[in-house]
Amino acid sequence: MDNVRFNPRFADVAPYDAKYLPADCLLSANESPYNLPDDIRYEIRKRLKRLDYNRYPDPLANELRDLIAEANGLERENVVVGNGGDELLFNTALAFGGPGRKFLNCPPTFSVYAANAELTGTEVVNVPRLANFRIDEMGVLTRVAEGDIDFIIVTSPNNPTGQLVSDDFIRHLLESTDALVMVDEAYGEFARTTCRPLLERHKNLVILRTFSKAFSCAGVRLGYLLGDAAVINEYLKVRQPYSVDAVSQLIGCTVYQNRQMFSPNIQGIIEERDRLMEGLKEIEGVQAFPSDANFILVRVAGASEVWEKLYERGVLVRDFSHAPMLEDCLRLSVGTPKENNALLKGLRKVLKERNRAQQA
Ligand SMILES: *Cc1c(COP(=O)(O)O)cnc(C)c1O
Repeated sequence: MDNVRFNPRFADVAPYDAKYLPADCLLSANESPYNLPDDIRYEIRKRLKRLDYNRYPDPLANELRDLIAEANGLERENVVVGNGGDELLFNTALAFGGPGRKFLNCPPTFSVYAANAELTGTEVVNVPRLANFRIDEMGVLTRVAEGDIDFIIVTSPNNPTGQLVSDDFIRHLLESTDALVMVDEAYGEFARTTCRPLLERHKNLVILRTFSKAFSCAGVRLGYLLGDAAVINEYLKVRQPYSVDAVSQLIGCTVYQNRQMFSPNIQGIIEERDRLMEGLKEIEGVQAFPSDANFILVRVAGASEVWEKLYERGVLVRDFSHAPMLEDCLRLSVGTPKENNALLKGLRKVLKERNRAQQA
């Protein structure tokens, strides 16, 4: 047969492209610039020696679940672990979306949300952010008041724009709707805040966190949700039984038990973010948006060309200039002090050379 019965629903779907390229300074994916601390890596190696590779893992990763629950003042039933936050986002669309159901999105934001809605046949209702990338709070509250929204994702701090959402707004939203409200706190550690206290009073809140950013584990694939037991149970219904493998569970437990060791790196990244912001403000032609995360969104004329020139200098950042509402925007992940210096120096050089070329 030289024909295949492709599903027409996916005819126009493009596979996800992380736009990863080799470079000296990898500042495009919001990863931690620091590998796991040596002591943790040593402990992982020690524990791996006793791992039964031939056995299926605990499908629910209960040991890790219990560690996370205890640290958050919750029970095992309030936690589900996933193969990265991304799996849990997909499971959200599976469990709460589907044909005939609606997802309220606040673009520009993480593109994975809308992609998951498309894959699951969920209708996307967009309430775009304001020009300064703050959430249109009135717009969201007015739209949910119509009563037909099934789930909402609020990203705080938002990716790729960097802003935190106010606790008051989240509380108001939770009180205004019976839709599931996910607060994606993938970058919460860099903002030193969480809406976890709201879990006590609001059954429709679910919080997403990940090991990929502040905890240096993007390569491991671990994320988790905190929520009401009935909400978590919906996730247990749709999840792949063995999505979190034994090695990831072992690493997750070791990292989580030693999570206080990440405080100096998190503090350092916050300080570097603020230093990078000061440096960016001094570069003419660059508009930097305030950020509570480990990245900064900037607007600069001819962003794609700037991206290319930076890449030629060994600095890889993320080009968002073709995304809706993000014309001429680049997202710069905070790296090590050395990497951030290379980025600032590169930007200054590239813009200066362009000015000179334009004047000639
Ligand atoms: C990185 C990220 C995640 C989770 O990423 P994983 O690596 O799959 O855990 C979730 N939400 C946002 C907004 C992110 O940027």
